[in-house]
Parts: sequence; structure tokens; C-alpha cells
Amino acid sequence: HKFSTHSRTMKAKKFVVVNHFVNEAKPTDLKLVEEELPPLKNGEYLVEAEYLSVDPYMRPYLQRFPVGITMIGSQVAKIIESKNPNFPVGKRIVGNLGWRTHTIINPSTNQDDVLQQQPYVLPDIGDLPSSLGLGVLGMPGNTAYFGLLEICKPKPGETIVISGAAGAVGSHVGQIAKNLGLIVIGICGSDEKCKWLTEELGFDSAINYKTASIASSLRKAAPQGVDCYFDNVGGDISSVVMYQMRPFGRVSVCGSISSYNTDASSLPKSTILQPVIVFNQLKIEGFIVTRWADRWNEGIIQNLRWIREGKLRYRETVTKGFENMFDAFIGMMRGENVGKAIIQA
Ligand code: NDP
Repeated sequence: HKFSTHSRTMKAKKFVVVNHFVNEAKPTDLKLVEEELPPLKNGEYLVEAEYLSVDPYMRPYLQRFPVGITMIGSQVAKIIESKNPNFPVGKRIVGNLGWRTHTIINPSTNQDDVLQQQPYVLPDIGDLPSSLGLGVLGMPGNTAYFGLLEICKPKPGETIVISGAAGAVGSHVGQIAKNLGLIVIGICGSDEKCKWLTEELGFDSAINYKTASIASSLRKAAPQGVDCYFDNVGGDISSVVMYQMRPFGRVSVCGSISSYNTDASSLPKSTILQPVIVFNQLKIEGFIVTRWADRWNEGIIQNLRWIREGKLRYRETVTKGFENMFDAFIGMMRGENVGKAIIQA
């Protein structure tokens, strides 16, 4: 083999799903294994993960797939070998490749593609870190952009409440809303997070749902009532907010993380909402961000522009080491992250 310059042995590490999660995921639900990768065929390219993402959807969404698959998720990866001129060595891609360090991609065959999106070359973002392709310049950033603008249709001077406000999506939504001239109130799980929102991101106020009464804090922060609610958490936090909405208020239902660790057969109960929906004529709409797949670049370009103009800040909670992905995932689900939770491979 001394003479065969094209051969190489490449081992990938990956997390395989051993059990479906029950309540909070356990480390033993996943298994870290090694896999030897074959040589590239024509049209294929090989990527190495630089940053990997842990996202809340992974907890409920995984249940749709059989055990034995590689754990689902997206990553920013560098092309390190290529037999495809459209994907040259050195470029970075964003792809739903799962929790794995190295992946061979063949764009012409069907990938196991959980978010119905093919890997795409990371747009040119200059000297900004490529990890932003998983956060403010990627899926969560587009969730904030489209989920706020298209569903809430916010107007200057209105009041918006955002739950999950100090996370990747929530912290971004609040800043767009500020840029548009709204009064912005965040709800999140610690005083440190509240401080970040009000002192650094320009939120008008922030409520720690673990220590304060949301109902009375909200009556003080929004005495006129709430026009828009961007909901990342669901459950009773959301019921309390929606009972303080003004006539013709709009709710963008983005996520419901407060129930993600619970089986569908035993979901927690919360206060009934139909009376306030009827009498205040509220509009409530859920969405999945891939609805705007055909406008994906528009979101990235606008968010990039806001970053360059100093109108959009971001924060990342970085866990080092691919082997530590599970801990990063659980930590994010427990609220240990501020801003976007990512893993540096
Ligand atoms: P975050 O960065 O916000 O991380 C999750 C956060 O949820 C934690 O930091 C924690 O913060 C909070 N949390 C955890 N448990 C609870 C609970 N029981 N009640 C209230 N808050 C809780 O994640 P993302 O920004 O990536 O995602 C936020 C939401 O947006 C999720 O619900 C996700 O599913 C949804 N989403 C939806 C998309 C769509 O297309 N519809 C796309 C992307 C995300 P804290 O300390 O405040 O408790």
C-alpha cells in the first residue's frame, strides 16, 4: 500500500441510538462507536465536523426514527477530500449529518435527511466564526427571523413577550423586535440570563419564571397588555401570558420545550385557553422553519447584515470535545446554556 497514494483509512466516531428516550435522556441511550469509512466514489466528498449543534427538537423528534440510527443533528463541517467539483476541499458545509465526526456525502443519493434539507455550502461570512452557521446564521436564526416577522407580523410600538428568551432563538427574536421598535419582555430561567437580556441585548424587561410570578410581573411590565407572543416553551407559562394579551394579539408557536421530556401519553395539563382566544380574538399559529426553505438565504443575509451593523448580538455556550455531546445536549435541555449551545469537535 506504500505506492497507493489515494488510499487512506479514515475512522469516524458516531453516537448510535440504543434506546428511545424516556423522560430525560440518559447517557446509556446513546453509544459512541467507531466506523471505518470506505474510499470516495466519483461525486462524493468527505467532511470533518468542526462544530455540532444540540437543539431541543432532537428530544421529541428522535422518537420518529428506529433505534440503531446515528443520533440526529446538524453540524458545520469542513470538506477534507472530494470527488465532486461543486464541493471542493476547504469549503465548509452545513448539514444534517447526525452526531458523527466524519461523513461521506453523495449529493445525488438520498441522505438520511431529517430536516428535509440537503447539506449546503456555508455562505461567505468573512471573519465571523463558522459555528454561527448553526446558530444566528443558521436554522435558529432563520427560526427567529421568519417565525417573528411572518407569524407575529409585529408593528412598531407594540409589546411582545418572548419565552425561552435567553436561548438561541429567543435572544435573537427579542433583538429583531427591538430593532423594529417594539417593547420587548423576555421570560427565562435565571437572574444571570435576565441581566444579559436587559443590560446587553436591550430588552425592556425580563422575568425569571423560576422565582417571580409571571402574571404580576407582566402586569407591571406591560400594563397595556401584550400584542405579540413568541412562544418557545408552551405549558402554563404560555397560558399566563396569553391571558394578558390584547384584542387581535398574535401568537407564534415556535416550540414547547416544557413538555419535550414527557411522553405524549402523559403530557402535563395547563390552563384552558379558549376563552381568551375567543374574547380577545387571538390568532395562534405554529410553524416549522423549513416552511421558508426557499427563502433560507434571505434570512441568513439579513441576520448577517444586522450583525455587521451592530444590531444583532449573539452568544454561544461552547462544549469542547465530540465525546461530550451528550452532556451538552442534556445541559441545554436543563437550561445551562446562554444563547446557542454548540459543541466544538
Ligand atoms: P434554547 O437555546 O432556548 O435552549 C433551550 C432552553 O429552554 C434552555 O436553555 C432553557 O432555558 C429552556 N427550558 C428548558 N426547560 C424549560 C421549561 N420546562 N420551561 C421553560 N423553559 C425551559 O433552544 P433553541 O433556541 O434552539 O430553541 C428554543 C425553542 O424553539 C424550542 O422549543 C425549540 O423546539 C424551538 N424551535 C422551533 C423551531 C421551529 O421550526 N418551529 C426551530 C428551532 C427551534 P431557561 O433557563 O430559560 O429555562
